[in-house]
Amino acid sequence: TISEIFEKTVNTFPNKEALYDVRRNRRFTFKEWNNQVDALARALKNEGVKKGDRVSTYLYNNEELATALFACAKIGAVFNPINFRLMAEEVAYILQDAEPKVVLFEQSLESVVSALEERFPTIAFWYIDEDTPSYAANYHEKLSSAPNLVLDETVTEDDWYAIMYTSGTTGRPKGVVHLHKEMVIQSDILSKAQKLDSDDVGLITAPMFHCAELHCAFLPRIQAGTKNVILHQFKPTMVLELVEKEKISKLFAAPTMWNMLLQEELSKYDLRSLKIGLYGATPMAPTLVLACQEKLGIQLVQAYGMTEMGPAITLLLEDDQVRKAGSAGQVCSEHELIIVRPNEDGPSDPDDRLPLGENGEILVKGPCMMKGYFQREETTEKALYKGWYHSGDIGYLDEEGFLYVKDRVDDMIISGGENVYPREVEDTLYEHSDVLDCAVIGLPDEHYGETVVAFVVSKNSLLTDSELENWCKNSDTLANYKRPRKYIFCDALPRNASGKIQKFVLRKQLDELFAE
Ligand code: AMP
Ligand code: MG
Repeated sequence: TISEIFEKTVNTFPNKEALYDVRRNRRFTFKEWNNQVDALARALKNEGVKKGDRVSTYLYNNEELATALFACAKIGAVFNPINFRLMAEEVAYILQDAEPKVVLFEQSLESVVSALEERFPTIAFWYIDEDTPSYAANYHEKLSSAPNLVLDETVTEDDWYAIMYTSGTTGRPKGVVHLHKEMVIQSDILSKAQKLDSDDVGLITAPMFHCAELHCAFLPRIQAGTKNVILHQFKPTMVLELVEKEKISKLFAAPTMWNMLLQEELSKYDLRSLKIGLYGATPMAPTLVLACQEKLGIQLVQAYGMTEMGPAITLLLEDDQVRKAGSAGQVCSEHELIIVRPNEDGPSDPDDRLPLGENGEILVKGPCMMKGYFQREETTEKALYKGWYHSGDIGYLDEEGFLYVKDRVDDMIISGGENVYPREVEDTLYEHSDVLDCAVIGLPDEHYGETVVAFVVSKNSLLTDSELENWCKNSDTLANYKRPRKYIFCDALPRNASGKIQKFVLRKQLDELFAE
């Protein structure tokens, strides 16, 4: 179980620094942290939380979130980290669905919670901030006043560990249920992939409520006895300062975050402690991977996956970054991955396999696959049709079994009967030195069905559409029908918490632009 992983590390390294919460400037050894975990486990038990009950967090990255994960694991409660960027109605939706007994949240998110407390009278809301003692249900008071209950719940590897709501680029979020054993295996895979050990120092800077940071970085480090430095939100200069001060050797960052780090004045910092960085959640242009390796002196490892799978299912290790540039790597451990013909009217059929090199829907299964979506039988049945998780991603496999992720099934553009994968176009645009960020979508068109439109954030206000048009024309990567017919310059692209561009927002913007 997750608890057993934690306890093993606590017993092996009791007096080693385990955790440094940067915002609060508070440090814990593994033993001190374990005491904190026990205190919260007792407080939750005292509140009536039983095995199988949900406990939610609505927190930025901090010690309390990390502590809550293990306190839940200890008493068999189901951990439910909620995205701190969600607004009142979005949080209400999750609370209604997950029905937690307790929600831990912080004061800076109070405006949202105050609207929810009345609507959910059966939920206990605990405020974690020490500097606002006016609240009745103060987290720290709960911890210090809880009676010394015995923590003797039997939790097994088949018990539920967490419900994670997927970021979902469309539709309502769904609660992904994972068991303890799935995350133990996931931690093991990721710990090896990043060569984690107890001498490493890991930095947490991407949101911890998302599986990329939580399951690919945080949990594997616990297993390896690696110290975690927790930064409450990503800020490039803070990250670079911390790398120097805390001698960070391992970190996860989404591609946009790596890109932002590269925009800083890097010569000001001593970054020699950096060893291995993990990226994933969205594709990353091979040129950006190389730039990170060169300018930050770090080796990169890519993970591809999704909340439903734990998340990682393929890994591109550091030695393959150049040779297999553009690939998401090979399936890890006992995972399986096949490419099948996409079906427009329902789940694709796992028996309709496509030959190597051909693009189709990516189906996966393996030891970390979710049990299903919480209280959604029909959706689960479709997503796990015939025992395979249907990713909704398009990609192909090469002769060596390396996966190339092309796009989302839903994002594919069909122009004049030809398939256009927006990512191919985006990759070409990214290579232009004045392009900071971009997104390509289809615009409905009477003649072609759809035409290609590019949203561009430029580094240089002088960048024009004719410059980009020439750039695409002169590239040997884009056929004529794939070239954008329109460029829209903007200040920023709408992204969700894991860094994914919200194309549905852009489609709406296009609709509005062309409705006028
Ligand atoms: P989530 O459920 O939030 O973890 O998002 C999962 C989705 O993120 C996948 O279905 C992919 O579309 C995308 N994704 C994750 N990792 C990668 C990667 N390394 N390269 C490309 N897309 C990725
Ligand atoms: Mg998802």
